[in-house]
Amino acid sequence: MIGRVLGKRYEIIEQIGEGGMANVYKARCRLLNRFVAVKILRPEFAKDNEFLTRFNIEAQAAAALSHQNIVSIYDVGREDGIEYIVMEYIEGLTLKDYIKENKILSWQQSADFALQICRALICAHNSGIVHRDIKPQNIIITADHVLKVTDFGIARAATASSATITGSTMGSVHYLSPEQARGGYTDFKSDIYSLGIVLYEMVTGKLPFVGGNTVSIAIKQIQETPIPPKEHNIAVPLAVENIILKAMNKDQTKRYQSASDMLRDLERAKTNPESEITTIEINENDRTKKIPVVPVDTPPIKKTGSGAYNAHTVKEDGKQNKKVVVWATITALVLVAAFVIGVASILYPGMFGNVGADEIEVPDLLGKTYEDIKDLYKKQNVTITPIQTVSSSEYGEGKITSQNPRAGKPVKLPLEIEVIISKGLDEIRLSNYERKGFFETKLALEDMGIIVKEEREESDTIAEGIITRTSPGANSTVKEGDTVTLYVSSGAGEQKTLVPNLVELNVQLARKILSDNNLLEGDITEVYSSKSVGTVTDQSVPANTEVKAYSRVDLFVSKGEQQKTKTVTITVPQDREKTKIKVVADGLTIHEAVHTKTEGAFNITISGKDSVALEIYYDDSLSHTMPVAL
Ligand code: ATP
Ligand code: MG
Repeated sequence: MIGRVLGKRYEIIEQIGEGGMANVYKARCRLLNRFVAVKILRPEFAKDNEFLTRFNIEAQAAAALSHQNIVSIYDVGREDGIEYIVMEYIEGLTLKDYIKENKILSWQQSADFALQICRALICAHNSGIVHRDIKPQNIIITADHVLKVTDFGIARAATASSATITGSTMGSVHYLSPEQARGGYTDFKSDIYSLGIVLYEMVTGKLPFVGGNTVSIAIKQIQETPIPPKEHNIAVPLAVENIILKAMNKDQTKRYQSASDMLRDLERAKTNPESEITTIEINENDRTKKIPVVPVDTPPIKKTGSGAYNAHTVKEDGKQNKKVVVWATITALVLVAAFVIGVASILYPGMFGNVGADEIEVPDLLGKTYEDIKDLYKKQNVTITPIQTVSSSEYGEGKITSQNPRAGKPVKLPLEIEVIISKGLDEIRLSNYERKGFFETKLALEDMGIIVKEEREESDTIAEGIITRTSPGANSTVKEGDTVTLYVSSGAGEQKTLVPNLVELNVQLARKILSDNNLLEGDITEVYSSKSVGTVTDQSVPANTEVKAYSRVDLFVSKGEQQKTKTVTITVPQDREKTKIKVVADGLTIHEAVHTKTEGAFNITISGKDSVALEIYYDDSLSHTMPVAL
């Protein structure tokens, strides 16, 4: 396939992935000269006509979705029996790989990721598109921690296919909603269920339902109550646990009714992690009641898994066997301990409250200072073990922020309470976020526990949506829970322009340059100047000043040097009645007229720079020259 050009346009470069339904290649679009991802359907799907029809309809619908958190579909094509779909190429790794690398994600990051998936779901659901295969393998994370959900609508086509579904598609069963597992009515609430599982996996590093094969997992999706996330990781705040359990409710009517409802709770959880932001209705029957009508013989995912998948499940089983051994040991220890406590209770009656003799109620340690209480319950065979320190805005340094098991729970002795201790607030030095994208900066800051405020402001130099500045600024130190305001460019306000230099230019050229620079010509004033006439001598706004476009700029233009004037008296000859008198100043005739003897004399005004040489002609013959100083 490498090197092949599909649709005369997509040049296949390398294979980047392999799924149950298709292989994914990186390709270059020759027309737009950009990288794209080309998904080529496996031949068994490409031959299935019913599948193809659905696939095309769904892909066309998904192609209409345009959202930051959704991988765009550009094109769908067919060539020589090859069915392919062209998508936005995302540089990054899948959320599945990201979880594998990080094992457990912080609840803050998990909540942020879930928020982004929610936004993708809101966009798709609003267009009537249900994903039906939300799983971390279908979510790609960019370097900036932007999540992109892929395969919208495509999974739907796959569920209708009779072709063999192999490989990673089998991974879907871990995220499959009960109604999908049952083959019942599915709608957008099925996506919410799957997102609940993804969030569960992010905060605990574990899948809620694992088992020997797809059928047994599907059955667990239908009837088994998940172990609350807090029991895997006590750092999971109450609000986040509640959101997960609500999203994962077996009953569609008890789940979030829309992705935006879930989004709202996630946002609330971020600011109020320990509050009971949502009420979850746990179906008390879930644990015991077996749903009798599980169609075990016709599970919705029909075919058995590939080798790769089976290998994975064998591992899970191995883990479970180990667990059994551990539990057997613990039970034995507890029995011994119970005996000891029984004896102790006889010696010290009333020591452990009103619970049974071998049981106590777990004390509430939240908010207590670890150093003060670490030995408090030693005599009573209760040890307190710190397992982690976290920064906390709620509890001061040294205080206990969470405990496992939780307070009030009746437990047998001896008891070990695991606690997480606050290290107070982290000091965070702000990076320079100027010219960074708003969205990724907000995420990065929120990951650090900073509350982000958004303010819009005009900027001519920074594009819309990009950060112009922050308050406090770069390099300031802030603490978790502090607010940082991100100023985001709302684009150019009024258009601005730089005033060009016009001095020394001819006025006609200067006027053209003004209009070329979106400036208006103001008053033009002529001034005396040693510069040649018509040259701009000055401008009302200096060159390189930034001004609003279409401002007026006044020009000062040379009318030449200022002339000095002097009045000179010319005498009229008395030896004749009339005389034609001509006065030439510096070679230029400035006066020529016939004068009578009776006039005696007359005045003329001479102008010039410093001095003028006058030639006086009486009846066309030079009478005398007269140097005049001005
Ligand atoms: P399924 O067949 O159930 O969808 P899957 O999601 O594991 O299974 P694919 O959707 O075929 O498989 O994707 C296979 C891999 O290809 C992904 O895990 C991802 O690494 C890569 N991939 C998919 N789409 C893109 C894309 N648009 N840009 C970059 N890489 C992608
Ligand atoms: Mg996929």
